Amino acid sequence: MTYLPLFLKADDEQPVLVVGGGEIACAKTEALASVGVRVDVVAKELGEAIIDMCDEHGFSYEQGEYELRRIEGRRIVIAATDDDALNEQIAHDCRARGILVNVVDNPPLCDFIFPALVRRGPLQVAVSTSGIAPTLARMIKQTLETIVPAEFERLIDFMEAQKTKLRKGLSQIQPRRLFSEDVIRGPIAEEVLEGNVQRAEELFDEALARYPDRHSPALYLVGTGPGNADLVTLKAIRLLGQADVILYDRLAAPELITQYGRKDAEKIFVGKTRCHHHKKQEEIDEIIERHLRDGHIVVRLKGGDPGIYGHAAEEIAIAKKVGVPYQIVPGISAAHGCAAYAGLPLTERNKALSVRFLTLYKDQLHDETFWEGMRYATNETLVFYMSSHNYGTLCEKLIESGFDADTRFLVIEQGTTPYQKEFPGAIGRFEEDYADNKFASPCLMIVGEVTRYYEEFKWKQPPIEEGNFFEELPEKEAA
Ligand code: SAH
Repeated sequence: MTYLPLFLKADDEQPVLVVGGGEIACAKTEALASVGVRVDVVAKELGEAIIDMCDEHGFSYEQGEYELRRIEGRRIVIAATDDDALNEQIAHDCRARGILVNVVDNPPLCDFIFPALVRRGPLQVAVSTSGIAPTLARMIKQTLETIVPAEFERLIDFMEAQKTKLRKGLSQIQPRRLFSEDVIRGPIAEEVLEGNVQRAEELFDEALARYPDRHSPALYLVGTGPGNADLVTLKAIRLLGQADVILYDRLAAPELITQYGRKDAEKIFVGKTRCHHHKKQEEIDEIIERHLRDGHIVVRLKGGDPGIYGHAAEEIAIAKKVGVPYQIVPGISAAHGCAAYAGLPLTERNKALSVRFLTLYKDQLHDETFWEGMRYATNETLVFYMSSHNYGTLCEKLIESGFDADTRFLVIEQGTTPYQKEFPGAIGRFEEDYADNKFASPCLMIVGEVTRYYEEFKWKQPPIEEGNFFEELPEKEAA
C-alpha cells in the first residue's frame, strides 16, 4: 500500500463525521479534537464517554441509524461502529462519492490512516509505518517526544515575533537562514524555552547587530545525576549537544560525554578529589572565563545536582562578570539516587519529617556548636556527603550528641551504578563492624530510622563482580 503524507486543512464549515458511539469512536473523536478539528457524531447508541467528549468540545451528536444523507456534502468520514457490514457499507458509499473514509481497524477499506503524532502547537511531526507496525510508529513518536522540548511552541511564537526585525537586519536569504539556525540551536532558544523572553530578545538583538560574527557564548551548570546515565535529564542531553567546551570530573558518567557531546567539542577533565586536586577551583574558574570570552558555549558537568557541594555560586559569578547568559540544570543528587536505589524513603510520616544534607570538614569535626545542633536532629534523616574518612568519629560524636547507639545507618558506595554496594549497621557498632573497611569512592552515609527499610525493600541486587564505575582515585590519596 502506498500512502501520500499530507496535512489536510481542517475546515470548521465541514466537520468530520464519526459514525459510532463506543470506545473506539470516542478515541477517534478525541484524536480529531486534540488537533482542533470539528466533529459531528452519529450512532445507534451513544456511550456516556462520547457524549461527554462532544459536550466538552461543543460538537454535535445525534442518536440514529446511519443513512446516506448523513455523509452527503462531507469531505471526511470515520466509520467506527462495531458492525463490520455497516462499516463496509459506509466505506462503499463514501468511495462512490469521492469522500475520504477511514474504517477503524480495517486498513484495506481506508483512504487514509492516522499517524502517530508529536505536536507542539503549530509544529506537528507525523509518523507512520503505512499501517503495518503501529507499535513501532508509537515507539518512534515517543523517542521524538523526548527530543522536541515541551516548550517548543513558545520558540515558534518567538521566531514569528522577530520575523520583521530579522528581514530588515539580514535581507539575504542565506545569512538569514544561518542566523535562524544559530538562534534555534543556541542560547537564545534556551532562554525562550525557559520563558525568559525579554532576555532572549536582548540576546537576539545583540546577535543580529554583530552578525556575521556568530559567537553566542553561554554557561550551563548541568547536573548529571549520581552516575547511572539513565538518570540524567532531557535538558542535560540537549545542552551537551550544544556545548563547544565540556568541563567534567570523575563523578560525571563518562558515556554522557561520548554519547551526547559533539565530537568536535573540547573536553576538559577538571576532576577534584579530597586530597588530589587535579585543578584548583581558581584554575577551573579561569578556564570557564577564558572560553566564555572566546565566545564558546561552556557546559560544566557536575555529578548529582550542581547546587549541592558543587561550587555553583562561584562558577555562575563568572558568567555574570563576563555578561553572558547562564542556566543551572538540576540533577538527581546522590542522596536521592542512593536512597531510591537502596529502597529507602528519605522522609517518613510522623517519624522522619526532614532531611539534612551534611558534610564533615575539619571545622565541623571540632565545632562544638555543630554537634550541639545535632541534638535536635535525632528524628531526622541525615545524609553525609564526602565524609567517609570520618565515619567512625562521626558515629561517636552523634552518640555524644544524644543519638541512641542503636540508631541505624546505611553506607552506600557507587550508588545507582552497576557496582552499588550497601553497608548497614548501628552507629554504636560502627568501629566493631567497619573500622577496617575501606569504602569505595564515592560513597555516602545515611543515618536515621528510614534505613531500616533497606532490609525489607532493597530491590537492586548486589553487584555480580566488584569494580569501579568511576575513574579510580590515585592509590596513595584514596584513603
Ligand atoms: N553535587 C553532588 C555532590 C558532590 S560532592 C550531588 O548532588 O550528589 C561528592 C560526594 O557526593 C561524594 O563524596 C559522595 O559522598 C557523594 N556521591 C556522589 N555520587 C555518589 C554515588 N554515586 N554514590 C554515593 N555517593 C555519591
